[in-house]
Amino acid sequence: MRRLSVVAVLALAIAVPSRAQSTPHEKLAREIYKELIEINTVDSVGSVTKAVEALAARFKAAGFPAADIHVLIPPNAPTKGNIVVRYHGRGGAGAPKPVLLLAHLDVVAALRADWPRDPFILNEENGFFLGRGTSDDKSMASIFAANLIWMKQEGVVPDRDIILALTADEEGGASNGARWIATEHKDLIDAEYAINEGGDGALVNGKPVTNAVMAAEKVSVNFTFTALNSGGHSSMPRPDNAIYQLSKALLKVSEFEFPVVLNPVTNAYLTQSSKAQPNREFAAAEMAVVANPMDAKANAILAKDSFVHSILRTTCVATRLAGGHANNALPQTATATVNCRVEPTSSYEYVLAALQRVVGDTGVKVTMQGASRLTGVVGAPPSAVPAEFLNAVTTITKKMWGDIPVVPQMSTGATDGKYLREVGIPTFGVSGLFYEGEERNMHGRDEKIRVKSYYDGLSFLDQLVRALTVKTKM
Ligand SMILES: [Zn+2]
Repeated sequence: MRRLSVVAVLALAIAVPSRAQSTPHEKLAREIYKELIEINTVDSVGSVTKAVEALAARFKAAGFPAADIHVLIPPNAPTKGNIVVRYHGRGGAGAPKPVLLLAHLDVVAALRADWPRDPFILNEENGFFLGRGTSDDKSMASIFAANLIWMKQEGVVPDRDIILALTADEEGGASNGARWIATEHKDLIDAEYAINEGGDGALVNGKPVTNAVMAAEKVSVNFTFTALNSGGHSSMPRPDNAIYQLSKALLKVSEFEFPVVLNPVTNAYLTQSSKAQPNREFAAAEMAVVANPMDAKANAILAKDSFVHSILRTTCVATRLAGGHANNALPQTATATVNCRVEPTSSYEYVLAALQRVVGDTGVKVTMQGASRLTGVVGAPPSAVPAEFLNAVTTITKKMWGDIPVVPQMSTGATDGKYLREVGIPTFGVSGLFYEGEERNMHGRDEKIRVKSYYDGLSFLDQLVRALTVKTKM
């Protein structure tokens, strides 16, 4: 990661204003946030179950009936608990299906020695909350929990049920809670659609410029490249060599580009982001690719932005390398992992065949990791965001941050949204949490979020959930 220059740090310190005293609703959210940050939920050493138990106690104390608080712990994984809470609506005939709120409680590891401060203490400094999970994803988890408890305290009765699911192992680990609940307890979370992480707002010089709704995700698939050779004594090299063969194959991958594939989400992204794009040449290229995905000149301009380059197509890149067995022996084996981020309408077989074609006659064998299960189209089809949802997001965005575009996005990474989409629950990433440039350092050292962003997100998600569930008050 690039380090901020002294000038940038000063600019940052000036740009982030301190905040006036919080409301009782904000105090509740901060309390839950602090409690969650300070419970270590790292896969290897932490316990998500501890966080789940703390939340269950809060919901119970707030008056939620025990029958609506489900603590779900997978067999053989006592530290990987999940919690599902149902907030009952008025129900009755014609009531729409519930809205599901999803966030994960586990966090990426953080070593005390790597951080200037304890990553498992909620620190507030210079207008930022700092600590592991302050952004990914304990901000949304605490906001959803606080908003539900706050609605209960205000005696709000929605027209439809609201379901909150806070889960384990999104960041890795063997007990992914969202997948497990979606397959084993789908009745508890079945919903018309879900709100999840993955859609943030962008700040430029402290000013909001776009808000995002994430409506599709690329899918991560790993391939193993293997070169085999009979080897021999290194004093007598021969023309064929496992390491050289593998190198040639990998260089071919580095030069290969998958064709552009647009879907309703990336189409809408290019159209909307071109409106907020200050670089007119880039904006024109975005519109040119919408008109003609094969426009080579426009594609060359867009390729300068690695995010836009990546949402237009499947990308594959070498990420790991191993080979040889002794300094004085010709290598008998050389292997590499090539990680592909596949656009969701392509099939596993298509990507495998493309890579096999790319390596050509280098003698390198390409196989898919976990191949037995992986056939057919990689993702759920990206669907356009429902009008009711997009209108609510747009209205609240305008009210809070002015006339900035709401941009539908496809994530280049992956979230648990994929497991919900697989069981037929459309999932949209939207948070109302805004970040500027390198502040967006989820998984990194000194993970952070602006204090103002956190409380704005609290208000945004409160208004959004009410707009989608409490029609009579709209
Ligand atoms: Zn996350």
